[in-house]
Amino acid sequence: MNKTPVVLTIAGSDPYGGAGIQVDAKTIHALGGYALSVPTALTSQNSQGVSDVFAPPIAVLENQVSALLDDMQVDAVKIGMLASAEIVSCVARLIDRYALKNVVLDTVLVSSSGKDLLALDALDILKAELFPRADVITPNLPELNRLLNTDYQGLAEEMDEIGEQLWRMNVKAAVIKGGHSATDSCTDYVLQSDSTPEALFAARVQTSHTHGTGCVLSSAIATGLAKGHALSDSAHIAKAFLTEKLKASDSLKLSYHQLSDNR
Ligand code: PLP
Repeated sequence: MNKTPVVLTIAGSDPYGGAGIQVDAKTIHALGGYALSVPTALTSQNSQGVSDVFAPPIAVLENQVSALLDDMQVDAVKIGMLASAEIVSCVARLIDRYALKNVVLDTVLVSSSGKDLLALDALDILKAELFPRADVITPNLPELNRLLNTDYQGLAEEMDEIGEQLWRMNVKAAVIKGGHSATDSCTDYVLQSDSTPEALFAARVQTSHTHGTGCVLSSAIATGLAKGHALSDSAHIAKAFLTEKLKASDSLKLSYHQLSDNR
């Protein structure tokens, strides 16, 4: 009997359900995996943005992950919002302690509403401790530019140079997300040191429901890796899944704001 691919998500909790461990678990299950979910931080948020972030004591995170991993093997891990330098280091220790594989690091820094989801003093620690431990990182363009101190626009001709910079920081592979790119499309790029950059083309979907798209993509990639797919195939499947979800999302009317919106 084939074992169900198990994916652990270690990320922020979004009670609104569009991002964080909630949408990760939905994505992992929709793609045929089984989700384990451990929150790094509890956010308060709704359709208008993130209003508060509370990070429980580190021991709670460590105990939750240990309870799961002392009991079962996971096939992939998705890491999202980490809130503080302490949490970054704790997750790095857990990766080593349990020899975790297929680690997808979504470099969550700031919410679209402007709330810091990773403390400023944690940026260098994220680069030093998690870049080398992740099998793939999935920055969007603002995150990439903040992490590299650059001003890339998401153009195909920039990708070789971006790769060179990332390899120097001991990154193993990256999916650069194109949602913020200067182009009309939403093309993502899969960068791997032993092959040329691969474009994942998608036309831009017109919707206001872009909250949590990075969470969906990274947990979908983790699910592909957990099933034994190569990174490129996992990224293609994840991109197609996300594009379908974005197309379907415009009919969602959840909040008072959206209901009074005549679109
Ligand atoms: N809340 C949590 C828990 C998240 O992980 C993220 C992004 O990854 C966000 C909020 C922000 O989502 P967005 O910027 O897409 O609104």
